[in-house]
Amino acid sequence: MNYLVNEVNRLNYHYYTLDNPLMLDPDYDKLYDELVTLEKETGTVLPQSPTQRVGGEILSGFTEHTHLARLWSLDKAQSVEDLLAWEERVKKAISTFNAANPRNPLPELSFVIELKFDGLTLNLTYNDGVLVQAATRGSGVTGEGILAQVKTIKSIPLEIPYKGLVEIQGEGIMNLSVLAKYNETAAEPLKNARNAAAGALRNLNPKVTAERRLDAFIYNVGYAPDKYFSHHSEMSDFLIENRFKVNPYTRYVGTIKDVISELDSIVACRADLDFLIDGAVIKIADMHTRSVLGYTEKFPRWAIAYKFEAEECSTTLESVNWEVGRTGKLTPVAMLMPVEIGGVTVTFCTMNNVADIERKNLKFALGKEVILRRSNDVIPELLGKLTDENDGLEIVTPTHCPSCNSKLVQRGAHLYCENKWECKPQKVGWLTHFASRDCMDIEGFSQSTAELLHDNHLLRHPGDFFDLQEEQLIYLEGFGKKKAQNLLKAIENCKTKGLSNLIHALSIPNVGKTSSKTFAEAFGSLERFSQASKEELLALSDVGEIVADSVLEYFANPVTYGIVRMIRTAGCDPVFEKVEVSVPADGLFNGKTVVITGTLSTMGRDEASFILEGLGAKVTGSVSRKTDFVVCGENAGSKKAKAETLGIRIILDEEFIQLIGMQ
Ligand SMILES: [Zn+2]
Repeated sequence: MNYLVNEVNRLNYHYYTLDNPLMLDPDYDKLYDELVTLEKETGTVLPQSPTQRVGGEILSGFTEHTHLARLWSLDKAQSVEDLLAWEERVKKAISTFNAANPRNPLPELSFVIELKFDGLTLNLTYNDGVLVQAATRGSGVTGEGILAQVKTIKSIPLEIPYKGLVEIQGEGIMNLSVLAKYNETAAEPLKNARNAAAGALRNLNPKVTAERRLDAFIYNVGYAPDKYFSHHSEMSDFLIENRFKVNPYTRYVGTIKDVISELDSIVACRADLDFLIDGAVIKIADMHTRSVLGYTEKFPRWAIAYKFEAEECSTTLESVNWEVGRTGKLTPVAMLMPVEIGGVTVTFCTMNNVADIERKNLKFALGKEVILRRSNDVIPELLGKLTDENDGLEIVTPTHCPSCNSKLVQRGAHLYCENKWECKPQKVGWLTHFASRDCMDIEGFSQSTAELLHDNHLLRHPGDFFDLQEEQLIYLEGFGKKKAQNLLKAIENCKTKGLSNLIHALSIPNVGKTSSKTFAEAFGSLERFSQASKEELLALSDVGEIVADSVLEYFANPVTYGIVRMIRTAGCDPVFEKVEVSVPADGLFNGKTVVITGTLSTMGRDEASFILEGLGAKVTGSVSRKTDFVVCGENAGSKKAKAETLGIRIILDEEFIQLIGMQ
């Protein structure tokens, strides 16, 4: 097992950290599967095992972690003047020291420049070569433990050659290409890579973290009592030797003038990076100088962060497109004369809604210059008109749907097309939403697939998914036998998705992912949910009048109710399963290792394991000193005897049923 763990970890290192795969994917998968099987058979999982990267059970909360050494924040420079002032302070401190220590002066001042990544700061603790904790920055003194989440980042080594106690800092990020790929099939696109990474790492369900496919750049050794570095480059080498992913951009320069010209070149190449940065960090390269300069109350005196400003520019507003979404909501989109900002060419930009157009004084801006701002977010934003005069053409608020020409209604700040059943973007929107990852996760079904099948009269609404036939698909453009079969297989597979996914997929107005989960837990089946009374709905936490009415209207409408029935009749009718509940932290089985042996009277061993895992337990195959409980059914043999010898608590069949709350 040790061999397999090491081998898979080594292959991962080459694949994710060095970007230099050593093996073809199928061969890798074979090794990985072998390890999974071995772990299942033996009931042993090493802490550094790569199988721990997929995300385990849902956690009930964060544990606090006290950093071994404080995580400092950095002093900030917004301008070249700020940088020069910092250099001045540093030089003064150095000459004071040198005057007092003429025989042992500090070396010539030199700097190291690194990128300032825009994600979530991570503090990784390794002991005896194994990753034992990972935490957020928090207050700098204590942070939140997020070990299970961080383990899903494949470029972070679970095991390192160095055996001493160390804390290592880096930044958890989401690559922009990964974000774009994720958004292709996400029900609710993530707007910003920083929030996507930070949100994923602070999610109590590590499986969600794993889905986001995060990465990390490592840049500092924060605590290493048995290790001394004399120069930044030594520390950097230490990180690389220990298999950490260090960003290749690191520049050593001799003068602040070189620093400033280097900053310009970072700005110039910023748009080509596959990750967000919001500036650069400048540090003094010599470690002895660092210790002489020391810290203020908040910052090290030997480092400073140079933050890039949000960029603004102006361009011409050429026209406004009104786009219809899944819910019938119209969004005005500004079509702009192409303009480069932050190294990216922008040709359009959302204007949010009618009220926003008024608020930003853009009502008469058509054909005129408008101000565009792009902060570190991917999505640019219109700030307003360049001049105050209303001298442009009017942005006319449409009265009829640009797609189906039915009359629009205004609700709050938004315009809606209510012609749900004959308005193509709404139909395609629902199909795409239904198939998206957060809903039924029909693999390979994108918006363009939805449009193609809709235009060929094969799909009108999600109820039609389950009637699709291979011979209808194979002659479609871009389809063939293989692709048709794959799609049908993916549709068949989606029937195993959980109830909360299905409720979310139904696209009930005002019902998102969270309330879908609430409903799944409360009602247990689609049938029960569709019959819920207003009182029952309002009794749930977070459910108000608007949501309750939306649910009632949805099921009272013969069309939507009919579609739901089609979906259920096709065999897509999941019931709520315990595993979806978050685990109560104080539960008897939470965090405990349990062995099941013998024949249980009311359920099979697999089912019992499933329930125990839902309660936070780890179910293993063999009894050892690490076992907390042994559940014994009829004819329990040697495992029961061993548990008795070791003094492990034995839970008999009847008591077990009571403890898991089934009686
Ligand atoms: Zn319409």
